[in-house]
Amino acid sequence: MIALSLAEIASIVGGQPHDIPDGGRQVTGSVVIDSRQVEPGGLFAAFVGEHVDGHDYAERAIESGAAAVLATRPVGVPAIVVADVEKALGALARAVVARLGTTLVALTGSAGKTSTKDLIAQLLQRKAPTVWTPGSLNNEIGLPLTALRATEETRHLVLEMGARGVGHIRYLTDLTPPKIGLVLNVGTAHIGEFGGREQIAQAKGELVESLPAEGTAVLNADDPLVRAMASRTKARVLFFGEAESADVRAENVRLTEQGQPSFTLHTPSGCSDVTLRLYGEHHVSNALAAAAVAHELGMSVDEIAVGLSEAGNLSRWRMEVTERPDGVTVVNDAYNANPESMRAALRALAAMGKGRRTWAVLGQMAELGDEALAEHDAVGRLAVRLNVSKLVAVGGREASWLQLGAYNEGSWGEESVHVSDTQAAVDLLRSELRPGDVVLVKASRSVGLEQVALALLEGE
Ligand code: ATP
Ligand code: MG
Repeated sequence: MIALSLAEIASIVGGQPHDIPDGGRQVTGSVVIDSRQVEPGGLFAAFVGEHVDGHDYAERAIESGAAAVLATRPVGVPAIVVADVEKALGALARAVVARLGTTLVALTGSAGKTSTKDLIAQLLQRKAPTVWTPGSLNNEIGLPLTALRATEETRHLVLEMGARGVGHIRYLTDLTPPKIGLVLNVGTAHIGEFGGREQIAQAKGELVESLPAEGTAVLNADDPLVRAMASRTKARVLFFGEAESADVRAENVRLTEQGQPSFTLHTPSGCSDVTLRLYGEHHVSNALAAAAVAHELGMSVDEIAVGLSEAGNLSRWRMEVTERPDGVTVVNDAYNANPESMRAALRALAAMGKGRRTWAVLGQMAELGDEALAEHDAVGRLAVRLNVSKLVAVGGREASWLQLGAYNEGSWGEESVHVSDTQAAVDLLRSELRPGDVVLVKASRSVGLEQVALALLEGE
């Protein structure tokens, strides 16, 4: 974080300093919410969680070198006491960002936020110092923590914004007002909580509503609900996608034999060829979105093409491809799943598995509300249509819907198996896998299917 005295911080967050030594203190290190991550000179924000009360770790944080604690009650060590730690973090982030004048890029969407954020960060980093959201820390706590990592050197701040309801993105854009706002897609992620696609579009569109007239809205031309957001912003609009009309678009899209997308990138300043190091054609859309942002920030098409071709996954368990010495390829996409990403991953599996046996080890897609049965059924059917060799459905009721979809589409019998838990899936795969097989592992976060991928790769 930029250096701030505790007195300044107290005034920004409207808090009361307690137990501050004479002469005051400065915060110079990161702001953290886990006392084990405290840096010398940092600030430890004490949250009260379901199982742990951060205030119990205040003393330990100070012993590890924290300058002070942000807390809701005096804790016997240097602290700024506030009514609400989350709001205080937000206020601090807002003040720091306003002071720095860094260019803010924010992105949201139903699927691909983290992948695209990582691509944008890798592009912009080539040009100037860039700070970005680590992993998926995209909520009202993670976003301020990320923003507070920016320093005077930071030219670009790239922020992933997540929404679980209307008003969430507005809250985040109030804290860190972006100059460039990118909306990737409106899918069905969290549809159960939102109530419907229109509501999801309403919520995601808050990002472009927040943009100033001199800002840029970067919108997906291929997604009708995102395209329609152009009418909700004062900012200039830049479209990306495969649509002819898009400002930044891809032509000649194909998958290499390794399953990596290759295409000609067109931007308003020219065109250049790109082969991604990422797996799955859904990354074309993500790469175009990243290219549009980089173009907007002054990068040339050649710089962008080289940057995209060299960029890798920064966040784990997203289409992580590992080949075992025995020739079995494991594709670990167990980080999360929704219907769109399931389809994209299955298509990538089909491309990678040409001439090989392919296994789709799949589990529940959570939070689908009334659409859960239809969506699981459709994924099971798609596996059959893509000629996947075997479907292993892992878990409860939703897994049985996956298997049933495959059964109904292709009269699949032994080609699809339903097992109750990850251990059963591991046992089955260990005995059945043959050299050369390709195994995709994917489900919603709550299923914990990475256990299967990790078990298959044990000892690698
Ligand atoms: P979260 O809401 O969990 O933070 P996210 O929006 O950040 O998710 P990623 O983590 O990038 O998304 O990807 C999640 C899943 O979606 C992965 O399985 C990935 O393969 C898939 N995916 C990535 N990009 C797209 C896309 N453009 N369209 C559909 N699926 C995608
Ligand atoms: Mg994410």
